[in-house]
Amino acid sequence: MSNTHGMKWIRHTTRLAIYLRDGLACVWCGEGVESARSLTLDHITPRCRGGTNDPTNLVTACRDCNDRKGDKLMSEFFRHMWDAHGLDLTASYRKVMASRRRVLPREQARELLAARGTIARAVAREASKLCNAVVIGRAVTGAIGSEASK
Ligand SMILES: [Zn+2]
Repeated sequence: MSNTHGMKWIRHTTRLAIYLRDGLACVWCGEGVESARSLTLDHITPRCRGGTNDPTNLVTACRDCNDRKGDKLMSEFFRHMWDAHGLDLTASYRKVMASRRRVLPREQARELLAARGTIARAVAREASKLCNAVVIGRAVTGAIGSEASK
């Protein structure tokens, strides 16, 4: 899988667009990622098993999940995660299927790269916006929760 190491095998805009499409989070474990370094692109069907570099075969994954998936097919990976870690990845399956059908936000990726220069800086900016949204979301839910418990 040497062709997936490093960053050069896919255009920067496509890589960033896939990260954005998947909400800057690992599709397998749902872990949100705050830096471009911990984000990777994972082949759903590995290259060595006939998978392509088409965006419909690529998803955002954290480094740990990418390493664990390795050259496994998605079904083999799910079985492995169940057997080895007791994890049911049914929800991940739905997320992956929905993600790969989504249109890539290429224009947004192009604009971010034009403004920020690098994927790392573009991701950092988007991730901080995302974190703010989560914090605000929690505050709102908290306020509603305390309101409801009165
Ligand atoms: Zn993960």
